[in-house]
Amino acid sequence: MSDYIKPLPKPSPTSRPYWEAARRHELQLQHCGGCGGYIYYPRPRCPHCMSDNLKWERVSGRGKLYSYTIVRRASTRSFADAPYVLAIVELDEGPRLTTNLIAAQEQLKIGMPVTVHFDDVTPEHTLVKFKPA
Ligand SMILES: [Zn+2]
Repeated sequence: MSDYIKPLPKPSPTSRPYWEAARRHELQLQHCGGCGGYIYYPRPRCPHCMSDNLKWERVSGRGKLYSYTIVRRASTRSFADAPYVLAIVELDEGPRLTTNLIAAQEQLKIGMPVTVHFDDVTPEHTLVKFKPA
């Protein structure tokens, strides 16, 4: 039994490849065969062209800090590790992910380059976070 007390992902048939890739420390996104766009979050159809011709592809894990906030008060007992950085990262491939950025407050700057970081929070769960590049 893990000591980790925050909510954990519950993969659906659609999102399972994303979480399985994260466990292997790979960032994978759906890539649309219809329009060529990358998609996040996982979906059964492309939100740009509605194609269901989607394939999972490994992406760079590089991007930039699009926006962030610093969470200073725990919303529940599970988040008692506040303060932490809740961020939106824009990947080089285009999609924006809501994530945690592991960085000191003084480091934070909109547009700063970031890179993916895989946090193995339990033996079965790896979370996708980011850190300064
Ligand atoms: Zn598409």
